[in-house]
Amino acid sequence: MSAKLIKGTEIREEILEEIMAEVAEIKDKHGVVPGLVTILVGENPASISYVTLKIKTAHRLGFTEVQDTQPVDISEEDLLALIDKYNNDESINGILVQLPLPKHVDEKKVLNAIDPDKDVDGFHPVNVGRLMIGGDEVKFPPCTPAGIQEMIIRAGVETKGAEVVVVGRSNIVGKPIANMMLQKGVGANSTVTVVHTGTQDLAAHCKRADILIVAAGVPDLVKPEWIKPGACVIDVGVNRVGEKVSEKTGKTIAILKGDVDFDAAKEIAGSITPVPGGVGPMTITMLMKNTLKSLKFKLGIA
Ligand code: NAD
Repeated sequence: MSAKLIKGTEIREEILEEIMAEVAEIKDKHGVVPGLVTILVGENPASISYVTLKIKTAHRLGFTEVQDTQPVDISEEDLLALIDKYNNDESINGILVQLPLPKHVDEKKVLNAIDPDKDVDGFHPVNVGRLMIGGDEVKFPPCTPAGIQEMIIRAGVETKGAEVVVVGRSNIVGKPIANMMLQKGVGANSTVTVVHTGTQDLAAHCKRADILIVAAGVPDLVKPEWIKPGACVIDVGVNRVGEKVSEKTGKTIAILKGDVDFDAAKEIAGSITPVPGGVGPMTITMLMKNTLKSLKFKLGIA
């Protein structure tokens, strides 16, 4: 294997340690800790496991964490009232509504009701606008793109003047990471191309990339011959391609694959993220970082 592995599991631990140290310092100086509320509607098993992981991480970091579970038939009006309650709760710095919401609730309306200054997911239109403007305007970069940028920085990959090609144009990954990489500043200042289902020659664009960020949701979409030798490859894709029995727990678990043919790509790339254990662990980590940031903004120390 020639490529350096960029391990999200290791970078996550580094960042969580940094957050823990900052939380302790703020608690000491200001007598407060970050507060995060997770609002879960209904009993979707996947949502429960995501929320549980977020709560566990928040707890480990010494945050105040509030788990607010609501019945699946909660009315839109009551859910909006709940958001309003947390918008006005001084002890809460981050509000997270676990998606998907039941069909009778307008998801957009609910997410847009969150105070943009507590929108630690970074999906509120105000925060999307702030991200587009860049620089000091940015408050909460969305968590997966923020994790990607952090991995690139911590792997020591040069971004200034680099050709960055992003595969995918979703609102949660492709568009925001493309926007972040073209801004002036650390871990950015790149020349960015976004390719998608309307692109004519995907391979030709990917071959130019010094940094190739792939978020398409198509297993093995990126072939090894599309990778420029020495490039940094960030594989965001998480695709379930089967099931297996875990050697550790004996339970049946999903077999996950990225959007890049990892085994072949690692022989050509300079650095590469694995799936699982690459970008995945970064998302919750950056959610915690955003929640800490929210408190720091409030205290005027960000
Ligand atoms: P999405 O379906 O919303 O968007 C996928 C994008 O890829 C679209 O813009 C589409 O145009 C493009 N695309 C799809 N097939 C293509 C093809 N054949 N050629 C060119 N472009 C193509 O998906 P998303 O929400 O952005 O997620 C993408 C992948 O990343 C998924 O596998 C998802 O599970 C994963 N993901 C992982 C994390 C994480 O690790 N924390 C977070 C978010 C998403």
